[in-house]
Amino acid sequence: MNQKILLVQPKFPTPAKSINHKDFLPIPLLKIASYHKSIGDEPYLVHGKENVDFTPDLIYVTSLFTYWQKEFWDTVEFYRNKFLDTQINAGGIYVSLFFENSEFQKKCNELNVIPFKGTVDAFEKSQPDYSLVDVDYQIIHASRGCKRHCPFCGVWEIEPKFVPKESIKNEVIKNKLVFYDNNLLANPFIEKILKELAELKIKGKPVYSECQSGFDGRLLTLKLAKLLKKVRFINPRIAWDGPFEDWNKIEKQINILCKAGYKSKEISIFMIYNWEYTFEEMELKRKKCFEWNVQIADCRNRPLTQEFDNYNGHIEQTSKDYYIHEIKGWTDSNVKKFRKNVRRQNICIRNRHKFHSSALERKRVPKSDYFKIISMPENDIIKILPDAWWPDRS
Ligand code: SF4
Repeated sequence: MNQKILLVQPKFPTPAKSINHKDFLPIPLLKIASYHKSIGDEPYLVHGKENVDFTPDLIYVTSLFTYWQKEFWDTVEFYRNKFLDTQINAGGIYVSLFFENSEFQKKCNELNVIPFKGTVDAFEKSQPDYSLVDVDYQIIHASRGCKRHCPFCGVWEIEPKFVPKESIKNEVIKNKLVFYDNNLLANPFIEKILKELAELKIKGKPVYSECQSGFDGRLLTLKLAKLLKKVRFINPRIAWDGPFEDWNKIEKQINILCKAGYKSKEISIFMIYNWEYTFEEMELKRKKCFEWNVQIADCRNRPLTQEFDNYNGHIEQTSKDYYIHEIKGWTDSNVKKFRKNVRRQNICIRNRHKFHSSALERKRVPKSDYFKIISMPENDIIKILPDAWWPDRS
């Protein structure tokens, strides 16, 4: 008998336009949809709490970050109250990380929810069902897990085994690929996979790729970087999670990418802040990136056990609102200042500007005036643009 399968992605606090954003696509639900279709069931995908006009035979709810668990539980409760007798399965990052937590298990029992940790083999073998979402790209994995054990990362807990694929060419169906690998370059077959992609054509056109998690710069060689460029990997990103004193290692990795043909402003450096390095040290790292003319992809640290995140960049807040790494001297004010500095610096890099001004950014002063203004002495610039800010200054 055909079963009606309800697949639920809770409404997480992402901007509305992010529903089908490449960073938030509910790939596990799309794989579950494929699996159920293959056995004759009818899957339906919904976002948040929706009044569906049928009684599902089975419900799956996915979860994301631990600090968005409220949205997950609100959604589970909504469907539990609506469909008292339907089995609810739950999975995803938060469910996997809290799987052994007694409070979590208690709540699952109360709401009669069956939690799943990590990946489920039967679903993993299925291709995501893209007919349920309106996107022009394809999410792909050439490996699961990661060989490294970075202390702020949950990957090695959720996917403890590093499982590389030898080939992905038969899975590719679109011209735009977004790799969700945690450590793409750690795959021992990476050269073979990249060579396959270089040759591959979909509908007679070449395939473009990007890597959501960035590349492990420690594994980057000139040969690999040239292959990445040849294969049309766009916007390469590498991580700088260590101290400022590692700058020369990062510089070498950037040079490798540049030698392979990438422009420096196309490159981004992932940086975790509100973490073990002080605001002052992070500012040194930020300024180094300005010197290198590369952008920064900043990531605010929240511990893997964090249960809420009500961060609001426009108001003063405390650690009751969101996680502030006070042990290392982080405060609400410098968390927000670092974020703001990164944003302004990235705008300067993209526009090749030496300073940032909100008046210029919001076009209150015509952008074309920038080149006239920049030739003036700084004191005169500040008279015209009092909010002018130079990324390389304190
Ligand atoms: S390299 Fe990346 S994915 Fe692997 S443990 Fe570190 S942060 Fe996580």
